This record gives sequence, C-alpha cells and structure tokens, in this order.
Amino acid sequence: MTQTVVQQPTSKAALISVSLAHAENLCRANRARLTPIRRRVLETLHNSNRPLGAYDLAAALAPQGRRMAPITVYRALEFLIEQGLAHRLASLNAYVASSQANDGRGTAAFLICEACGSVSEVSSPELHDAVSNLHKSHSFSPRARLLELTGRCAHC
Ligand SMILES: [Zn+2]
Repeated sequence: MTQTVVQQPTSKAALISVSLAHAENLCRANRARLTPIRRRVLETLHNSNRPLGAYDLAAALAPQGRRMAPITVYRALEFLIEQGLAHRLASLNAYVASSQANDGRGTAAFLICEACGSVSEVSSPELHDAVSNLHKSHSFSPRARLLELTGRCAHC
C-alpha cells in the first residue's frame, strides 16, 4: 500500500503552483483551454500583491520591453473571469486572481484599502446566503457575485 503525503505549500511560489494546477484541473473539467497566454496572465495576477490593470498586465507580460497587445490581455482576462479564476474590481478598473476557495461560485467581498491599495478577498456562507436571498427576492440573475467595500485596512 502506498501512502501519499500531502504537504501544505509554504512559500508563495508553492502556493502559486498549487493555484495554477487547480486552474488547469478546473479548465479541463469545464472543457476549456488554459492556453499559455491565459496561464501567464493568471500567474502574473497571482504573483502580484495588488490588483493589476490590463495595461499593467500587458507591460508585465511583455517579452524584453515589447508590449503584449492589450486586446490579447483583455481576451485572456475575459476567459479567466468566465472560469471564475479572476475577478474584475470595477471601483479600481483592475483585476485580481480568485482565491482557490471561491472559484467564482460563491459570493466574495473584496476589502479595498484606499490608503495602501491592499485588497483582501473574504467570504462566508452567511454572506453567500444573504446575497442569494436578495437576488431571489428581486428575481435578479447575477452575472458576478462580487461586493467591493472601500475604506481603510487594519494597518492604515
Ligand atoms: Zn491599508
């Protein structure tokens, strides 16, 4: 009998590779293709400590100073959002990678600090239920279940 030892990822690099493996599995299950460009956009979002605009992404992904066409970045972002792997924060016009726990199926709240720019994704079953009840009672079909709360974080 073989035993599988599951190690908890400790470094940020390990966490990112877990997230990317998860994204690949999810896309395979959805019969969607995580192309190299889509994968690089997702990886760049995971690597970033703050939300990135499409132009920041185009610059970050550019090979040796050559910009990637913004339309290529937008298309990749559209795909990642459809798959629940990334979110667009309307108040910042910027993008973040989705936390693995959520996958776009739950309701996520983003706490956006206006002082330091930090963004944290938080969620709870109660939040999800409360938002679901609101949608239902207004016969509203949500495309995204995403709340943005702006203010100050604990450090500022
Ligand atoms: Zn802050």
